[in-house]
Order: sequence, then C-alpha cells, then structure tokens
Amino acid sequence: MTTLFISDLHLDPARPHITALFEAFLRGEARAAQALYILGDLFESWIGDDDDSEIAQRVQAALRDLVQAGVAVAFLHGNRDFLVGAAFAARTGVHLLPDPAPIMLAGEATLLLHGDTLCLGDTVYQQVRRQLRDPAWQAQFLAQPLAARRAFAARARAESQAHTAAAASDIMDVTPAEVLRVMAAQGATRLIHGHTHRPARHPLTLPDGRPGERIVLGDWYEQGSVLRVDGARIELATLAAS
Ligand code: MN
Repeated sequence: MTTLFISDLHLDPARPHITALFEAFLRGEARAAQALYILGDLFESWIGDDDDSEIAQRVQAALRDLVQAGVAVAFLHGNRDFLVGAAFAARTGVHLLPDPAPIMLAGEATLLLHGDTLCLGDTVYQQVRRQLRDPAWQAQFLAQPLAARRAFAARARAESQAHTAAAASDIMDVTPAEVLRVMAAQGATRLIHGHTHRPARHPLTLPDGRPGERIVLGDWYEQGSVLRVDGARIELATLAAS
C-alpha cells in the first residue's frame, strides 16, 4: 500500500484549477492509498476554523470524504496555515501532527516537517514566525471579526511576497547544518519537507557516518507534486493540471 506526501498547495480562490486538481487527486489516487500526509501550506492563508469562505468549506468537505473512505489523513502546519485548529480536525477527521513529526516509514525512521524551521538564514522570517506562533498573539487575532482577519492576511501575504522577492535565494533554502542537527537529534535517517518549493531528493551523510536522505516536496502553483512511498519504491512525481 502506498503512502502519499504533499505540501505547499497554497489553495486560493485565485487558482481554481489547482483546487480542482487537488479534489481530483483526493477522489483518485489518494483513495487507493494507505495514508496521506499534508506537510503544510495546504492553504494560501487560513484565518481561523470559523472561516465561512467557499474554498474553506469545499476543501474540508473533500478531506472528510477521503477520511470517511478509510484513508488516514494527517496534516502539519505551514507558515501560511498555522491557524488550522481543533475544529478543522474534528470536522474533517484529519489528524494534526506536531512539527517535526517522527514516523516509521517502510522500516526507516523518518522525520516530517514543513521546512520553515530549517531555513535559519532567513532571520527576518524566523522573527516573524516567533510572533505568529505565540499563543497570546493567536488568541487576540482569532478574537477579531472575520473581515479584519481577512484584511490582515492580505497584508501579511503582500509583505511575505515582497520579502521573498527581495531576499537572496540561498537564505530562502534550508541550512545544511540544521538539517543534520535535527536528523541526528531525532535519530532519523530520512527527512521529508516542503516550504522551499525546490522538489528534489538529496542523499546525505549523517554525523555518525550513516547514509541518509532529505526529500523536498514541490509546490502546486502551476502543477501538482506528490511523493509516493511503497516499501522501497519511492517516487517524487508531478501532476499535470488540466
Ligand atoms: Mn511554507
């Protein structure tokens, strides 16, 4: 049985063909999978589980259908949808994971992350992250009306895009020493993450000399990206949008 991994769909009303591709993926190959892991940034933004927008309702319904069909679905937060919470989990049946999340995958100790915590070169972002992940900040944000939260999300998105465009490309990638530190600390030989939108498989050597691998998932801006793991068979594939 296959285990599937996706991330960085950035679902947004501005890209309806990507939402349709995701829905087709959930009705199609995901139905035949044992488990589906969504490693963050499923949504371009998530302003709270009480969001009544059409896309929020549609995606939650599609995930619930997959869970009800018997597929285990797990999610960990990205930097865009870190406010996905308990009501979302209860409504969809999706299991919320911590970041990092250690799992055994085909007999190998594997660590799942969104990937933003590995990008230590981006000090501006790491500072913003500390504020956004502060429970007190989140509580005051969620207490605001939906319209005010939508306006904040639009501003934050514009600032994030400007920052990404201005920052040097290497600081937006993972810090290699941090990858090795996290893998060694967790005793993992394989690491799977998204966030950087640079899909690839990177063989590496762990501090204790053992071989390891870091697998990076791709984004769903123009197409889909999925990692399929079935025993020793590992495939990082692109899904064409119609
Ligand atoms: Mn991200």
